[in-house]
Amino acid sequence: MNVLVTGGAGYIGSHAAQRLLRDGHTVVVVDSLLRGHERAIDRIRPQSGGRLVFAKLDLNERAGIERLIREHGVATVMHFAALAAVGESVENPMLYYRNNTCAMVSLLEACLAAGVERFVFSSSCATYGVPPERMIPIPEHCPQCPISPYGETKLQGERILRDVAEACRRSGRDFSYAALRYFNVAGCDRSGLLGEDHTPETHLIPVVLQAALGRRDGVSVFGTDYPTPDGTCIRDYLHVEDLADAHVKVMEALRPGDERAYNLGIGTGYSVRQIIEAVREVTGADFKVREQARRPGDPPRLFADASRIHAELGWSARITDLREIIDSAWRWFRQNPKGYGG
Ligand code: UDP
Repeated sequence: MNVLVTGGAGYIGSHAAQRLLRDGHTVVVVDSLLRGHERAIDRIRPQSGGRLVFAKLDLNERAGIERLIREHGVATVMHFAALAAVGESVENPMLYYRNNTCAMVSLLEACLAAGVERFVFSSSCATYGVPPERMIPIPEHCPQCPISPYGETKLQGERILRDVAEACRRSGRDFSYAALRYFNVAGCDRSGLLGEDHTPETHLIPVVLQAALGRRDGVSVFGTDYPTPDGTCIRDYLHVEDLADAHVKVMEALRPGDERAYNLGIGTGYSVRQIIEAVREVTGADFKVREQARRPGDPPRLFADASRIHAELGWSARITDLREIIDSAWRWFRQNPKGYGG
């Protein structure tokens, strides 16, 4: 297939693009490089299998995106491009509404004008907000009530897709979509080419690994008074290669008129303290840990009931050992201490 991968120079998008190329697909990456890295594209370019095209373009440039889709005969879009830091979204919500919601509207206009038939959307467990206790692990029918602007933009993306799909159905045109609600994505490509490189880095595992490398002065634990066994937040960390695999399975399964939503996680939750301990074990390094106030926008406990995608598509995470997940990221950080810039 010819697949447009938005945000393909970013952390998750580049891993998905690599997987698609290895499977022999033609991959058209569009990335504004606001947070993405052209070097990630350079690293996957020699991949045997498919063909790679890269365009530096903002999704709000609707006409340019439409031209790109037409020029390369794209019928499937994987939409990864987005800002994804919960804390930043609380501090600067308009940045998130512009980059996530407005960009998605523009992208979908281009898709509809150019006849795209399948759309795979990177949604998030942040759309669930604080789920009721009886709904953890979280199934897809859990009420979606986000508590951060980031989560709100992802829910808006899902709602926009639902309405677009309805309009397409009424006018008799083929359109299908899947909203993939990621839990926390972690780890790096085990062949060592690709990794996680955010500036500033705010996600827990890379932050702790940077502390282990001595590249930052210890780690802050945001909140130790949550209603969890050790007082710190619990999350479900899914390996990025398993996530890419889920995208491929979903893309292959989509049929005209389908509207799907799947939770993607390993189904086990780890606390912030457990992550810090696991990083100490994997790296053998010690570093300072500071207990700090809660970070706004953080729900206490999020982990997935991912049984729907297993039942319908046979997907489940294969890399479920936390140490293996952390080890894959550790290898990237050791070999690329300055990320793509080093
Ligand atoms: N966290 C932390 N210290 C950090 C970064 C994150 O204690 O330096 C906590 C954060 O408050 C949350 C969890 O780790 O409870 C996961 O945060 P992350 O930003 O990695 O992902 P999110 O769950 O926000 O998508």
